Amino acid sequence: MIRINDIYMPLDLNDEALIKKAAKEIAVKPSEISELRLVKKSVDARKKSDVHFTVSVELNVKNEAAILKKNPPNKVCAVKNETYPIPRIQSRAHRPVTVGFGPAGMFAALRLAQNGLRPIVLERGSDVDTRTKAVAKFREHGILSERTNVQFGEGGAGTFSDGKLTTGIRDPRIKHIFTELVRLGAPEDILYTAKPHIGTDILRNVVKNLREEIISLGGEVIFEARLTKLIQKNGKLTGAVYEKDGKEYEILTDSLILAAGHSARDVFSYLQTNDISLERKIFAMGVRVEHLQADVNKSLYGDFCGHPSLPPAEYKYAVHLKNGKSLYSFCMCPGGSVIASASETNTVVTNGMSFHARNSTNANAALLVNVEPGDITGNDPLAGIALQQGIERAAFILGGSDYSAPITLVGDFLEKRSSVNIGRITPSYTPGVKPADISSLFPEYITETLRTGLPLLANKAGFFAEREAVLTAPETRSSSPVRIIRGSDLCSVSLKGLYPCGEGAGYAGGIVSAAVDGLKCAEAVTENG
Ligand SMILES: Cc1cc2nc3c(=O)[nH]c(=O)nc-3n(C[C@H](O)[C@H](O)[C@H](O)COP(=O)(O)OP(=O)(O)OC[C@H]3O[C@@H](n4cnc5c(N)ncnc54)[C@H](O)[C@@H]3O)c2cc1C
Repeated sequence: MIRINDIYMPLDLNDEALIKKAAKEIAVKPSEISELRLVKKSVDARKKSDVHFTVSVELNVKNEAAILKKNPPNKVCAVKNETYPIPRIQSRAHRPVTVGFGPAGMFAALRLAQNGLRPIVLERGSDVDTRTKAVAKFREHGILSERTNVQFGEGGAGTFSDGKLTTGIRDPRIKHIFTELVRLGAPEDILYTAKPHIGTDILRNVVKNLREEIISLGGEVIFEARLTKLIQKNGKLTGAVYEKDGKEYEILTDSLILAAGHSARDVFSYLQTNDISLERKIFAMGVRVEHLQADVNKSLYGDFCGHPSLPPAEYKYAVHLKNGKSLYSFCMCPGGSVIASASETNTVVTNGMSFHARNSTNANAALLVNVEPGDITGNDPLAGIALQQGIERAAFILGGSDYSAPITLVGDFLEKRSSVNIGRITPSYTPGVKPADISSLFPEYITETLRTGLPLLANKAGFFAEREAVLTAPETRSSSPVRIIRGSDLCSVSLKGLYPCGEGAGYAGGIVSAAVDGLKCAEAVTENG
């Protein structure tokens, strides 16, 4: 089997046209090709006069060796069969424990279960169905459950998300993760689209299927079970304590994968008090910006806007300023909504979400500014969390103390005044929004970077010049401000048998990289014994 990369295809792509084009690329007849499959498809909208697809295909054809010889290897290459070996371990003195059932914990537990190690999963939030009801209650009535919410519960922080699977990392495990996701119910097109996404509606079922598989392999998943204590002897983990329904339970274990996410602030405090080494790391904060999706489509697709083959347009931009700060778009959700993402009472936190169809009126994205460890005074490793928390509490008050989010229109923000009305873009955040001056929420370097950077973004994409675009604040939980330091064996440098994992531990940023880190930690638990 061979692969042909980067074939130019017009927007009315179909199977017949694809075979003809592939045949032409390698100078054979279409009839000589068999088993052609699409392995990559991206929209190329760099030239507004020529928006098209770029695709890569894998196929069987006669005389493959000769074709490979004739073509440059970056254009045509042999397909490598990559497999991800799964060892079966017979028995262990204790079952491993995974804490957290987000992407990192789910893939760690799945892998441990497939290896035959029958993991015990502790998840402080509820199963996805109960959780969905709790999230709806918060979004509709402003009644927050601290136990289960957009950050906590089955599927982790990404369950009520766009389910974007783009990542900046390269790792051979990624292909395996995508294949597993499809096997568990994700749409097949994630295997070939350049910017794959699942959507919150489909993701919820995938998460359930993944849980069922762990259980069918002998694992156990305990919801509403919060890790409260680690037990250790001579620098080695010997057990863990969790709280469920007001009672405490102890589990004996020598391996615990801690994949508790970046919102488990009680966990970070517990680790700090118990001398587990932590350090500050770079993170980011800012706002969610909302435009009309139709304006984004027009700006990015030009005359091709409205073509039935084109998905709602996505964007990713960054500007780097003289003050050493960058303003960048992050986690863009085409046809989505801004979602209330608080996990603590009397706080406001924003993020973005879409259904698979991405067919809502607005487009939203985080606009973030990098926060370096040196931006915050003192030495406390948890200072970044304190900063996030202060902003989230101030936003709750600015929003009217009823979980409404404060918003400012771009024009007002640039002119340093409070908004009093909403313009042509209706904010999608529920339970409600309050026009205000959000600039007062942030340290000056964030507000100033937003103010200087927004006009620069407008130079790159016209829709950023929209003065009635909505800025909803604050976006504080895009990444973890803390790292739990681990060694080359992936154990905490302070406690053997404790495996800090995923985004909260500081080793991932996003669904895919968290899942990759989950697999790495499961491999380490399997190998380290
Ligand atoms: C609304 C929203 C939209 C997002 N959209 C995207 C997107 O489209 N694409 C993308 O790549 N990323 C997205 N992200 C980010 C992504 O969700 C995270 O990067 C990812 O979930 C991190 O995975 P994780 O497993 O490390 O941690 P998490 O997903 O945070 O999971 C941690 C889990 O640990 C549990 N937990 C915490 N403390 C304890 C305890 N003491 N005991 C037991 N359990 C505990 C939590 O309840 C939680 O379920 C989004 C995030 C949010 C909030």
